[in-house]
Amino acid sequence: MITKIIHEEKIQKAKKYVEKGESFVIVTHVTPDGDAIGSALGLYHFLTAYGKDNVTVVVPNDFPQFYKWMPGHKEIVIHEKYPDFAEQLIRDADVLFCLDFNEPKRIEKLAPAVVAAEGRRVMIDHHLNPADFCRVTMSYPEMSSTSEMVFRFICRMGMFDLINKDCAACIYTGMMTDTGSFTYNSNKPEIYTIISELIKKGIDKDLIYRKVNQVYSESRLRMMGYVLYEKMKVYPEQHAALITLSLEEMNRFHYVTGDTEGFVNLPLSIENVAFSVFIREDKDYVKISLRSVGDFPCNQFASRYFNGGGHKNASGGEFYGSLADAVAVFEKGLEEFNPNKTEDLDKHD
Ligand code: 5GP
Ligand code: MN
Repeated sequence: MITKIIHEEKIQKAKKYVEKGESFVIVTHVTPDGDAIGSALGLYHFLTAYGKDNVTVVVPNDFPQFYKWMPGHKEIVIHEKYPDFAEQLIRDADVLFCLDFNEPKRIEKLAPAVVAAEGRRVMIDHHLNPADFCRVTMSYPEMSSTSEMVFRFICRMGMFDLINKDCAACIYTGMMTDTGSFTYNSNKPEIYTIISELIKKGIDKDLIYRKVNQVYSESRLRMMGYVLYEKMKVYPEQHAALITLSLEEMNRFHYVTGDTEGFVNLPLSIENVAFSVFIREDKDYVKISLRSVGDFPCNQFASRYFNGGGHKNASGGEFYGSLADAVAVFEKGLEEFNPNKTEDLDKHD
């Protein structure tokens, strides 16, 4: 038996929308990760199995190649590629599920269409501080992934039987990727109860791991080597580390979307590093990824210095300016935040 986390009235309200709605759009955040795609496609397979034949996943922009094996990925509409079509779907939707994001800002150019839509909006998410733009807001930051919440939502509607193998594979992928393959945010026993149910649905979890984590190019691995050897700066006093990468360097290694996935975690394997930041140049801005182990709140750091947010141990933000300026902001932040003075910073055993 799994604990009832999501409030009953939210389940009942959303269940009514599911029963009565004919057209559904599922939206998720910009630069979708495994949990974004996994939760969205998981819900998509459920709604399809329920008998809804007008269900579309809409994402703001493209997602990495290593998620392009997931059942249903070809049906995903990318707003950046097909803006008019995506916006029409949103306008026409009876129900809009907003998955894995807490505020319209996180869907960037999709935001105006989603906020203006007449359909009923339902948020399913695990980020802190949800904005008030949905009729039903299921926001549970203690959950390890939105995909886990989708599983719980379906079960609580009494429709566990409609979770098929495709749905289970997508949900599992999101749970796996948002916990770094169950290496953080993953101590709640019920996660494994859910995984056990997903395996009973026929998924091959070992194969899913390989499909997501072991399908990179040679040049990506060489870029990782380059980054570690040449581009990693360690700040021993602050128990911190920084990696930077320019567009020129990424081009040198034939960068494709997703190639820098996981780079930010690498310095955390150093015994004394509890806070790691990856600053990467993008087309018209600089992207910041932050990770920590233990109690260091990198979401606060992201919000204070990089107009971002996220989870305590995994967050992100943006910077409009040069790479060098972003590094200067980071280093200033490091001084001000002074992690040395934060007792909580020590790595937990
Ligand atoms: P990543 O480093 O993988 O891009 O992002 C890690 C987490 O940080 C995401 O799951 C998301 O919760 C959060 N995040 C990333 N970028 C941003 C951002 O620009 N703004 C906010 N508020 N959160 C972000
Ligand atoms: Mn997530």
